Amino acid sequence: MKTVGIVGGGQLGRMLAMAAARLSIRTVVLEPQADCPAAQVANHHIVAAYDDAEALAELARRSDVITYEFENVPEESATRLAADRPVYPPPLALSVSQDRLTEKTFLNDCGIPTAGFRAVDNLDDLKAALAAFGGRGVLKTRRFGYDGKGQWVFSGTEDDPAAAFAALAGAPAIFEEWIDFEREISVIAARGLDGALICFDPAENEHREGILRVSRVPARITDAVASEARGHAARLLSALDYVGVLGLELFVDREGGLIANEFAPRVHNSGHWSEAACAVSQFEQHIRAVVGLPLVDPARIADCVMHNIIGDDMEKVPDWLKTAGARVHLYGKAESRPGRKMGHVTVVESRRNG
Ligand code: ATP
Ligand code: MG
Ligand code: MG
Repeated sequence: MKTVGIVGGGQLGRMLAMAAARLSIRTVVLEPQADCPAAQVANHHIVAAYDDAEALAELARRSDVITYEFENVPEESATRLAADRPVYPPPLALSVSQDRLTEKTFLNDCGIPTAGFRAVDNLDDLKAALAAFGGRGVLKTRRFGYDGKGQWVFSGTEDDPAAAFAALAGAPAIFEEWIDFEREISVIAARGLDGALICFDPAENEHREGILRVSRVPARITDAVASEARGHAARLLSALDYVGVLGLELFVDREGGLIANEFAPRVHNSGHWSEAACAVSQFEQHIRAVVGLPLVDPARIADCVMHNIIGDDMEKVPDWLKTAGARVHLYGKAESRPGRKMGHVTVVESRRNG
């Protein structure tokens, strides 16, 4: 029986562990937080920091292959683990995606368009970027941002570049051109050890306050846009010599053009619907990829809408539990806080009468 080591013990690690268990694959989680979502499901939990040398050695010893559930795994930890065991996705995917400047440059080098961007190391860089992009855009920290944290939007009126720059507190940053998109989509793609590639149907994503709220499948895009999105994901995964699941976030502009925003080298929130509406979920596909099992067409069996359950949304759970076709998935977090992802629910459209 194979064992997969997972760095990170959040809800993504938990859902990977659940998918692994269904295939009789064991999981070991490395996570400093004692009562973390993944530890409630995994076979073993190493409670230690992600850069603890002894804990990394133990994780390697207990595992046949190692993966991760978040993109900010310290690069040195990934390199250390890779000396002992195969690490999938490859550590290159981490180093590229951990820095928005490297990430956008890499995407462009793969022939995947992004918003125009400039590195911001001082206030003059920020003012020059604002002048170059007509005063509109987003200032983002290059590293460690998620759920829209570490971002300042410039709308062209009443902006205060000096205050925004000061708020960075010395963190290296990037300024991105504003994209007046028609919609946001994502492609969840998987690549196997043998180079086989499969994509889930693109999802259409709705964000509020920088946090994903709703994903709808199918996305309201043409077949041509969907296949271009898949093509972008395929080029990215090949260029990274990727193994596992990756989420590529894209804007669709008003002319139907695709502009990549960012990618996550892991299972992705906008792919959670796959557990309810596909024969093989993104979590199972990832586990299959990293242990060398065959990847299969996920065979979507229903249209669906996934709602994130964030903070106070927990109050709606009793109603979701009474709703036909709603698959509720909670992450076992004891306390809800504003902005905290507590679970999600996927409502599948019945095809009984169709
Ligand atoms: P995630 O939780 O997805 O990792 P993040 O903190 O990395 O989020 P982004 O994905 O860069 O943040 O941005 C969050 C959201 O802000 C995007 O999904 C989009 O709605 C909006 N946004 C980001 N960049 C731009 C842009 N250049 N133009 C217009 N909207 C943008
Ligand atoms: Mg991000
Ligand atoms: Mg994002």
